Amino acid sequence: MMKLIFLGPPGAGKGTQASIASKKLGIPTISTGDMLRAAVKEGTEIGKQAKSFMDAGKLVPDSVIIGIVAERVEKADCAQGYILDGVPRTLAQARALEDAGIRFDHVVSIETTDQVVTQRLEGRRVCPDCGATFHTTSNPSKVEGVCDACGQALIQRHDDQAETIANRLKIYHKETEPLKEFYQQRGLLRQVEDTGSIESVNGRIMAVLGK
Ligand code: ADP
Ligand code: ADP
Ligand code: ZN
Repeated sequence: MMKLIFLGPPGAGKGTQASIASKKLGIPTISTGDMLRAAVKEGTEIGKQAKSFMDAGKLVPDSVIIGIVAERVEKADCAQGYILDGVPRTLAQARALEDAGIRFDHVVSIETTDQVVTQRLEGRRVCPDCGATFHTTSNPSKVEGVCDACGQALIQRHDDQAETIANRLKIYHKETEPLKEFYQQRGLLRQVEDTGSIESVNGRIMAVLGK
């Protein structure tokens, strides 16, 4: 059983690292960002509530987030554990998960700088179909603009633009960074430097997990 949170600013590499760790550990990744984007695409009630916040780089209200996570972790594929990617993002979300009886083994905080993540977000390209993530220079797809996994044309996310990025970083420092202290007090915080290749960061993450 391995219940994990991957914490870090937008562009730190949470999704990239969660995808690798999921395969190695045989547990699913639960990404609230992916779930919300799917809801927006499908035009569900949650999608309608979330869209304007996401486009502006603001946080979607806690009440919406807590509901979708609590429901997701009850699914059968979560029986052996899971990785939360991009949630919790506020102290209220962290407390709500705790109040719901959800406990974690490790909270992996990817430590980086605003300068590095800005470059990463500006060059990020994603597959609208399967969610695979690439970077124009540091992690390019084999064929430019085409998903390695499924052949779909890659896109740039609406919120990966300079003004929205700055807003998201401001919100990260104000709302999400205090979670490090919260989990530090619970003895769960594992800080990992993001320098070096995707593989080397993965090596450090597996090491703090004792794997
Ligand atoms: P997050 O989920 O934290 O927002 P992503 O996993 O989407 O971050 O990564 C952001 C961008 O940075 C992507 O384009 C990804 O390919 C790239 N990236 C991730 N980790 C690294 C790394 N260690 N070195 C260089 N680029 C990276
Ligand atoms: P990134 O890792 O690049 O910041 P995500 O895909 O995790 O992006 O999230 C995209 C957007 O979805 C966020 O900017 C926010 O609007 C919304 N979102 C995702 N997860 C949460 C959450 N836990 N709480 C509030 N809003 C969220
Ligand atoms: Zn794809």
